[in-house]
Amino acid sequence: MTQDESGNRSTIIKLTIAIAVLVAAIIIAYIQIGGADPASIAADRAYIDIETGRVFSHTIQIGDMEPIKAPSGSMSGYRAEACYWGKGDDGRWVLKDKPTYVVLKKRIDPESTEDTFCPDCGRRVVGHNPRPTQEQIDAANDSPGGSDDAGADERG
Ligand SMILES: [Zn+2]
Repeated sequence: MTQDESGNRSTIIKLTIAIAVLVAAIIIAYIQIGGADPASIAADRAYIDIETGRVFSHTIQIGDMEPIKAPSGSMSGYRAEACYWGKGDDGRWVLKDKPTYVVLKKRIDPESTEDTFCPDCGRRVVGHNPRPTQEQIDAANDSPGGSDDAGADERG
């Protein structure tokens, strides 16, 4: 039954190649994500445990499926977007050093079409929420519609 044997062998070779390709793909993906590069440790993403509201950091790994396990032990961790917009005591927009982390409603319920608003500043938060530049902050302060603080001029 040499024919069977050679059939098996070619199956094994094909399987070996498939596995090798898969391993190579995983390694490439790992390198692209940052892998062991120390810089990637600083690039840990912020997650929020939606049960406790606590923010925790988590390095994205291949095969991560949300919700991920939060430090509380619950499967309630969702990736958060950072909102750097803040309002100063005088009601003007400021660029915050420490962002407010917000989980998009869409992340928790992929079918949700609801917008997500930052609980701190009230601005809409989007995926890969951009960090504003100082120019954008200044522009928001200068634009009449950019502030809901209509009575600001009375302060003087
Ligand atoms: Zn905000």
